[in-house]
Amino acid sequence: MKDLPTPKEDILSELAQIQSKDLKYSDGKILGSMCTEAHPFAKEIYIKFLDSNLGDPGLFKGTREIEEKTINIIGKLLSIDKAYGNIVTGGTEANIMALRAARNHARKYKGIKNGEIIIPESAHFSFKKAADMMNLKIVESELDDNYKINPKSVQDNISDKTVSIVGIAGTTELGLIDPIEELSNIAFENNIYMHVDAAFGGFSIPFLEMAGYNFPKFDFSLPGVSSITVDPHKMGLAPIPAGGIIFRKKEYLKVMAIDSPYLTVKTQSTVVGTRLGASSVATYALLKYFGSDGYSKLALKLMNNTKFFKNNLEKIGYNIVVEPELNIVAFNHPTKDADILAKELKDLNGWIVSVASCPKAIRIVLMNHVTKQHLTQLLKDLKELF
Ligand SMILES: *Cc1c(COP(=O)(O)O)cnc(C)c1O
Repeated sequence: MKDLPTPKEDILSELAQIQSKDLKYSDGKILGSMCTEAHPFAKEIYIKFLDSNLGDPGLFKGTREIEEKTINIIGKLLSIDKAYGNIVTGGTEANIMALRAARNHARKYKGIKNGEIIIPESAHFSFKKAADMMNLKIVESELDDNYKINPKSVQDNISDKTVSIVGIAGTTELGLIDPIEELSNIAFENNIYMHVDAAFGGFSIPFLEMAGYNFPKFDFSLPGVSSITVDPHKMGLAPIPAGGIIFRKKEYLKVMAIDSPYLTVKTQSTVVGTRLGASSVATYALLKYFGSDGYSKLALKLMNNTKFFKNNLEKIGYNIVVEPELNIVAFNHPTKDADILAKELKDLNGWIVSVASCPKAIRIVLMNHVTKQHLTQLLKDLKELF
């Protein structure tokens, strides 16, 4: 069968009709996602750089320079003067790169084969993908009563095959920050690579600290920390896909380098080959546009919404799972199962919440598109369903 060309207007109208099936962030019904609508300025920048390919950086020297600047700005936010790394597709790819660096480093300098990684039970599922791809064995460390990794359990799990210890700064389900300083000490004393997954918290914790919040140390100010993941496409408001992987030393990129003979540079350390320059540039533009001041204001607003929501939930009679540290609230009805309540919320008014597994609870992520008005309506509905 041969297809004739279709007029643009027909294609556009077909796509608009199909797109109408998608949910929109602006409706305020998406309550369990860690993504949000990208900032309009970032979208404007993004399309200007759609053709620049950082897989072949010799051809796009300007874009590569912007990627380096972006990594350095994020590095400074994470307390390191000279940072190495890349803007990649997201937290998953960033975590894969971190573990690949850890594995290759341990293979090169300690001769470890069939390595193990120690992760908390609360770790994002991307570590399972990484372990599967790289033939690493996952050793899960227990959580304490507050759902944070228990450092004692990490210490006990160390073996002569351990290639990395992982801690989370802003867990996916509850937004909690692991005791990174204790993990860093353990990693440092045992000469083991330590990765911090701050995919969620990375664009929030440093800015909240500037606004007066007190968090325990989680970044490169701790000598044991080797790499950190941060996702600009979450609270950073960058367009998808934008994740960041920041390394303390260039060596970690070198141990992953693969020869890339036909390109303008002779080696490549990233997982993907051809890759977007636009993500780096959009992230850079937003970092300049907001400044740390602007990002602090955004982060504070999310925390205010979090407190507002949490306090009112408690007034109605719902039980909070744990005191929120970042912009996630997990809660339960005193008797009703979380899945049932989630379904009732959907049926009543189209709310799309997510259900956390550890522990089982309704989980609301207070992202930038969720406003006070949305929350007020949600609380009204939760009261009705109580
Ligand atoms: C979101 C998240 C990830 C995964 O990031 P993607 O961008 O979805 O690949 C990994 N770790 C944590 C802690 C996250 O919150």
